[in-house]
Amino acid sequence: MKLLERKHMDKKHVHVCTNRYKPIYNKKVNLMLVDYHVHSNISEDGENSMLELVEAAIIRGFSEICITDHYEGDDKSYKFFHHYDAEKYFIDIQKNRQLYGTRIAIKAGIEVGYSPRVTGDKLAKMLELPYDFVIGSVHEHDGIDYHTTDITTFDENEFFGTYYAKIEKMVAEYNFDCVGHFDLLHRYYANFGIKIDKSKYEELAVHALKVIIEAGKGLEINTSGLRQRLGDTMPSLDIMKMYRALGGEIVTIGSDAHYARDVGAGIANAVDVAKAAGFRYLTVVSGRAPSFVRM
Ligand SMILES: [Zn+2]
Ligand SMILES: [Zn+2]
Repeated sequence: MKLLERKHMDKKHVHVCTNRYKPIYNKKVNLMLVDYHVHSNISEDGENSMLELVEAAIIRGFSEICITDHYEGDDKSYKFFHHYDAEKYFIDIQKNRQLYGTRIAIKAGIEVGYSPRVTGDKLAKMLELPYDFVIGSVHEHDGIDYHTTDITTFDENEFFGTYYAKIEKMVAEYNFDCVGHFDLLHRYYANFGIKIDKSKYEELAVHALKVIIEAGKGLEINTSGLRQRLGDTMPSLDIMKMYRALGGEIVTIGSDAHYARDVGAGIANAVDVAKAAGFRYLTVVSGRAPSFVRM
């Protein structure tokens, strides 16, 4: 069944089947295009259905997409509570695999936010579900979601110190595969027009990288900062070089798209960053088992 001929399909989806998603052909690297960090509207901040994301990825020539909706615990009293419906998630995954599984590999993923509301045991229970890939991310500072606060009102040193400490605690407590958007704080400071002197926190970053590597976890190169004021990947090339020099091997790439229009955005740039840092392989994951694809 051709994508553009799905006339019998639900009309509300027909608008997606146009050419407004321009294909991304990365001739330079001749890589199979993958996006390992995408949010559907199962995430409260996700705009589009899983079907719309999958169709955007197919039209853009991607061979794999991993849908990684937010899980931040189930405490409804938390001010920034994100509901996560695992049942609906896997129903959507099944439907999309039935419809498009021959066109694109659709991986089941989850982005777990490190928080007191998600204990290691709670996460273990969640991960009895058949996820292929788990991102572990730090999104909050002492119960305050970075996204919804004026980050400049906090002490910068304390903010960075707490951030890296949380990354290390997350590595110790959670069963996950890759750290999401390492150095996310730079994106939030940039949104307030502040460029952070990275050298001030290099020691902390290197320590966290060592902890990640020793635990056998990976890093993703997240491209959402390229679409924002930061204008860079997270982490940036200098951190990826350090990660490589310290012995890091596992690298995934993800757009962190919350809209279908952003699926695959910046992936070619992320590949360039990985290569410039000295990596020759990207990681793809099935059933939590990594395999390595030559770039
Ligand atoms: Zn995140
Ligand atoms: Zn995300």
